[in-house]
Amino acid sequence: MFNDLRGKRVLITGSTMGIGLAAAHAFARYGARVGLNGRRAPHDLDTQLDALRAAGGEAAFFAADLSHSEACKQLVADFVRHFGGIDVLINNAGGLVARRPLAEIDDAFFDAVNDLNMRSALMCTQAALPHLKASAAARGETASVISVGSIAGHTGGGPGASLYGASKAWLHNIQKNWVDYHTTDRIRFNIVSPGTVDTAFHADKNAETRQRISAAIPLGRFGTPEEMAPAFLFFASHACSGYVTGQILDINGGQFMP
Ligand code: NAD
Repeated sequence: MFNDLRGKRVLITGSTMGIGLAAAHAFARYGARVGLNGRRAPHDLDTQLDALRAAGGEAAFFAADLSHSEACKQLVADFVRHFGGIDVLINNAGGLVARRPLAEIDDAFFDAVNDLNMRSALMCTQAALPHLKASAAARGETASVISVGSIAGHTGGGPGASLYGASKAWLHNIQKNWVDYHTTDRIRFNIVSPGTVDTAFHADKNAETRQRISAAIPLGRFGTPEEMAPAFLFFASHACSGYVTGQILDINGGQFMP
């Protein structure tokens, strides 16, 4: 079904663990060429790259702290130098930074949350645009940008996560403009919007809190990173979603229904 992903050059930001790494494995299984990224190389980088290659893909790692615009540009340049172009960009890097109620938000925290979640996606997309346009022209099909939104972008976020939720809502919104003005370049823009997914993101929660959250999810549990991965394959595949753009796919076990 996803056979057109073979050989595709897929850059996944923030992919040394969690949702991004699970997506990287899914792409590798379909023979894609995958770029992993994190602020620094994980201690088990060689093992991770070997696993991706064993799964059937090509893989390389690119260190970059995407809270900084120059690092976003450098990441895209390094990826293109290595793989010769880019067909799919996945803006996955993101996170809470910390939980802070409104009264405790200062300028540094404001910048940290927005740099990680907004600046990273904006600047990686900006840098990738000419390469995605070239890919679409050369292949005669659409290229794809997939950004990771969040249930928090719909609901406003949980305790101390107002800036995070707002930054994800910003992503949900800005892609509408990108669709309006870059579809002529044959680039599609879509969002994967996870609910509560069992990653390091929720490392601060004790068993009781996890139980309470699970009870509020119709499917009765957290999602897994692997359960997010097929959505990325779908949006990346021209054969599957060549006429799908500007959409948000919510994967949340029924926790929120827009
Ligand atoms: P995670 O903490 O497991 O992974 C985060 C990844 O981002 C890691 O690979 C880390 O190295 C990377 N990263 C962090 N800061 C970075 C930086 N400055 N530059 C480059 N890379 C950086 O989290 P996750 O749950 O896999 O989250 C992935 C995405 O999914 C994020 O955008 C997050 O906001 C979103 N999300 C997660 C959930 C959830 O419940 N886990 C829900 C909704 C949305």
